[in-house]
Amino acid sequence: MTELVDILRTEHHLSSNGYRSLLTCDDVKVNDYLQSQARQVANDVFGKGIFVRGLIELTNVCRNDCYYCGIRKSNTAVERYMLTAEQVMQCCEQGHKLGFRTFVLQGGELPRDKWQWIAGLVAEIKTSWYDCAVTLSLGEWPKDVYKEFRKAGADRYLLRHESHNATHYSMLHPAEMSLNNRLQCLNWLKELGFQVGTGIMAGSPWQTLDNIVEDIEFIENFQPEMIGLGPFVPQHETPLGNHATGSAVLTCKLYSIFRLMFPNALIPSTTALNSIDSHGRIKGIMAGANVVMPNLSPTNVRELYALYDGKSSVNAEAAEGIAQLEAQLKTIGYHINWSRGDFNKCTIHNAHNTQFIMHNFSTQN
Ligand code: SF4
Repeated sequence: MTELVDILRTEHHLSSNGYRSLLTCDDVKVNDYLQSQARQVANDVFGKGIFVRGLIELTNVCRNDCYYCGIRKSNTAVERYMLTAEQVMQCCEQGHKLGFRTFVLQGGELPRDKWQWIAGLVAEIKTSWYDCAVTLSLGEWPKDVYKEFRKAGADRYLLRHESHNATHYSMLHPAEMSLNNRLQCLNWLKELGFQVGTGIMAGSPWQTLDNIVEDIEFIENFQPEMIGLGPFVPQHETPLGNHATGSAVLTCKLYSIFRLMFPNALIPSTTALNSIDSHGRIKGIMAGANVVMPNLSPTNVRELYALYDGKSSVNAEAAEGIAQLEAQLKTIGYHINWSRGDFNKCTIHNAHNTQFIMHNFSTQN
């Protein structure tokens, strides 16, 4: 089975059956080999530096009703909030002082008439901190609105497709949401020159092995710059609140597979993984992830942004706990890379000959 790992490392691709075999393999030696190869590839490309992004949870208001999400519009138990522009700027100021050079504005899908407010916010951040990247993770919008976000200076956009199988997608989302629209949005984002991230929840309800293989193959064709992937974690107020939590092992295995498929991709070791496993962040990095996203949101709203139960937002998961994160990374021989951490189509950081070949994504678009 290790030969499959070798093929994936050299060819960045396997047959459907190859992915199936790797995903179902429970031989510890093979899985250790998969992780070690993924880690080596990440080290060759990025060295031992881990990019950090300051996460600002803009709002828990959402017009959608995804069955798995704690801030879905039907959850009346949620106390809703929306940060003011002033609060967001304060978060950025604090983050910039700490050293962050990417801010991620994440939130529910706001009413359509809020797009100008969002674009204005992006423009203000980019004017005040011109050395920083802005990532948006604010769901589905018309193409013209994405265009305005890009014009305002947004560099990256995260939009998980959640499942490429239409039947499975419809089991996770209400009828008014469609997989086709999600995929259309992803294509628009690419066309507009964003660095685009997509991904799934590992172990989401009713997810089959074939679904995961289909997701891998979609991602292979789509060629995202970022891959956002965490375990499914139930939230007790949602229709899927009684389903089992996804597995950290499967999540890490997927990090490794994606790292071998996409050596240069930006792959976060997610908060969700760290929320179900106290060593999750480190395990994710050892499996080939190369990004972490500490929480920069005002402390009084962090609990209100409860996408799932038990979400971590303190200590090394929080921006103010950055020293703890550094100390954690040090224990495994890694450190924080404080640069913007844009996607580079071709970056080789070879520790043996210190050769760097870099084509910065943002200069090509
Ligand atoms: S997953 Fe996103 S779009 Fe769906 S309900 Fe939650 S915040 Fe809204």
